[in-house]
Order: sequence, then structure tokens, then C-alpha cells
Amino acid sequence: MSLIVQKFGGSSVATISRIENVAKKAIASREAGHDVVVVVSAMKGETDRLMALADDAAGSNNPSPRELDLLLSTGETVTITLLTMVLERLGAAARCYTGAQVQILTDSAFSKARIQDIDAELLRDDLGAGRIVVVAGFQGVDENGSITTLGRGGSDTTAVALAAALEADECQIYTDVDGVYTTDPRVVPTARRLEKITFEEMLELASLGSKVLQIRAVEFAGKYQVPLRVLSSFEDGPGTLITMEGDDMTQGSMEEPLIAGIAFNRDEAKVTMIGVPDTPGIAAQILGPIAQANIEVDMIVQNISNEGLTDFTFTVNKTEYDRAMQILQQQANALGAREVFGDTGIIKLSLVGVGMRSHAGVASRMFNALAAEGINIQMISTSEIKISVVVDEKYLELGTRTLHKAFDLDEKSGKTVSVEGQQTE
Ligand code: ADP
Ligand code: ASP
Ligand code: MG
Repeated sequence: MSLIVQKFGGSSVATISRIENVAKKAIASREAGHDVVVVVSAMKGETDRLMALADDAAGSNNPSPRELDLLLSTGETVTITLLTMVLERLGAAARCYTGAQVQILTDSAFSKARIQDIDAELLRDDLGAGRIVVVAGFQGVDENGSITTLGRGGSDTTAVALAAALEADECQIYTDVDGVYTTDPRVVPTARRLEKITFEEMLELASLGSKVLQIRAVEFAGKYQVPLRVLSSFEDGPGTLITMEGDDMTQGSMEEPLIAGIAFNRDEAKVTMIGVPDTPGIAAQILGPIAQANIEVDMIVQNISNEGLTDFTFTVNKTEYDRAMQILQQQANALGAREVFGDTGIIKLSLVGVGMRSHAGVASRMFNALAAEGINIQMISTSEIKISVVVDEKYLELGTRTLHKAFDLDEKSGKTVSVEGQQTE
């Protein structure tokens, strides 16, 4: 007998009839002889609805972070109770728990709390008694007893963390697509489902904007070696297995693809300081106050200097753009820089693949493909297994499709992808 953690996202629990579908899957696994822990998200759209209510209530204030997290956590609390009622109606023994009830202990960073510890004993007792255990995703509790949330998409992390704590045999993430694709199938309909992808590649894709798995969930799975699989809630299939690098065909094999996938990120903005004196310590002076304000910086570019002056550009999250611009303006005055300007109309496109390590020419193939479509590259950054470029936001679809084709990632058979909400409804 094995222990399986199954996580179902918002669209998988959007209605009572879909919750019934989830219940039937959990019962089928239980009847196949497995111990089953189910983690659920809020019903589709619920977290957004609660956020909008909080914004209305707080008006020109920002909603207080502690109260906002308590509010947002209610979405998942609703789903666990409904699922448990349906399970019992269908004849299964079940019990549900909030994050606080199972002691998913987190730090106190409201809206992006990190899990520190989980007390799995309570759950083991239930499993031992033959019950299906249902746990609310996305929420935890800090040492003061305040309810916290783990960031958007955080139910993935709850599931993987529980799987690690319970030493589960597999953590299954059920969602509205039938696996991890070469890119978001909603943007590129010819995207291909991957049989397998390495943790390392999945981690890069998640951190570069691919929202199919929350990045912390992938980090956790890698750290605690939790076998992780992404599957469809709506149809049967093998899904995509996230593997340790070095497993069978994932490295060094003739079948190893150059590029595993393409990610895009719409959430960044670009800020530039023009005409900065090019002296030692200048980067630290510009970025120091940005770091002190707790603003995360992603790509950084400094031009070669011309007559002792240089330009300095970096990207930040759009939500921190206004603050970054304010700080930069103050710094520009202090440093005697010529000008500061910003641009929120950008996106970042990234190619990811462990195959890049052993192949030259990926960057030039990427740049040629974009140039052939007249897409201007504004910034470039590379690391061992990824290349990212910043381009105008109007090129999101064209840029992604162009790169998908240029790296031979298109589905050869012409089979269309099964994406819930796009085809059948
Ligand atoms: P859930 O509510 O089940 O957590 P999400 O919306 O968080 O679902 O994640 C699933 C979505 O991720 C898909 O509908 C798809 O649009 C998007 N996505 C982005 N990149 C990829 C990718 N490479 N493969 C599959 N899905 C992707
Ligand atoms: N309900 C939360 C969200 O919408 C968490 C999750 O679904 O994973 O982000
Ligand atoms: Mg998600």
C-alpha cells in the first residue's frame, strides 16, 4: 500500500459536480488500496473575488496584511468542508483540516509565508483509521496563531510539503491541462505535453513565469525528493513526471531535447537611469536603496561607458514599479545622473533546457528567429540552462510562437491540446 497526496486546483473544484468528480477520484485511489490525502484550492475565481472585496473595503488604504490573509484563507476552508460532505455522501470516511488545524507552521510574512514545519501525526492517525484526509491548500499559521497564506498558486506548495512530511510515494497535481507543456498551451495551441521534465528545468520554468506549478512547490519537491506528477482532473492520462536530473533519458541521452520549454512573464517592468558617472561603486549606490526598500531586482544591464558616463537598466515586479521609480529619481538627483525613465509595457521570454549546457548556438538561433519577425530585443540575460530576453509586450504571442517553432517544439501530429475552458466549454 502506498500513500498518495492529490492536489486539485480552482477549476477542478469550481462547482459541486466538479467536487464530486474530485471525490470519485480520491475514492478510486482509496479503493485501489492507497492512503489518500487530498489538498484543495479555493473554488475558481474565489481568491480574486475576495481580493477585490478587500480592496473595496480598504479604499485608499492598503488592506492590513494579517486581515487580508485571514480573509483569503476562507476560500480554501469552504472547499475542504464541501468536499468532505460530498465524500461522506458517496459513502467514504473522510475528515477535513484547515492549515492551522494540521499545524502547517509558517513564518509571519503575510501573503508570501514560508512553511517551516508540519505536524503529520494527526493525519497519520486518520489515515490509519481508513479515512480520506482533506487539507486546505494555500494557508498556514504563524507562531502567534495568525493565519497566513503562501502566495498565489500556494496550494501546490501545501501539497508537496505534506507529501514530504508524510513521506508520500507520489504527489499528484491535478489541474485543467493534462501535464506540463513545452509552453503555455493557451498561448501556443501546438504546444506538446512533456512525458518528463527535470526538477532543474521545472524550477527555471516556474521562476521565469510558467504558472503551472508554484516555484516553491518545485523547490520543496527537489529538496525532499518528492516524486511529483502533473495531471488533468478531467481526463485520464499519464501526465508529466518531474524527475531528478540524471534519471534515465533526462540527461546525456540521444533523445535529450535542446530546449525543454518556453516561459513568459508579464509581471515585470523596466527602469533605466541615463548618464550616470561611471565610477567604482555606482551599481551598489543605485541598487542599495532599492534592496533596502525590499524591492526584488531581476535582470540588470549596464552599458559600456561613453565619455565617463554610462546607462543602467534593471527590471522589477510591476507591483513595485512606482516605488522603484521614486527611489531611482532620488538617487539620480544625488548622483547627478541625466535622466530616469521606466517602461511597464514589456514582457520577458525565456528558453529553458539542460541541453543548452552541451550545445552552442542556442542564443544566436533565438535572436535570429526573433529578428526575422521584426521583434526588437531590449535586454538579454543568460545562465547555464536558460536564455531570457525582454521585448515589447505586444510580442508575447508572436514571440512565443516564433521561438516554439524555431526550436522544433511544435506538436508534429497536429493534434490539438486539451485545455479545459478553451475547447469543451
Ligand atoms: P490550478 O488552478 O489547477 O492550480 P493554474 O491556473 O495555476 O491551475 O495552472 C494551470 C495553467 O498553467 C494552465 O491552464 C496553463 O494555462 C498554464 N501554463 C503555463 N505554462 C504552462 C506549461 N508550460 N504547461 C502547462 N500549463 C501551463
Ligand atoms: N487559491 C489560491 C490562488 O488562487 C491558491 C491556489 O489556488 O493555489 O492563488
Ligand atoms: Mg495553480
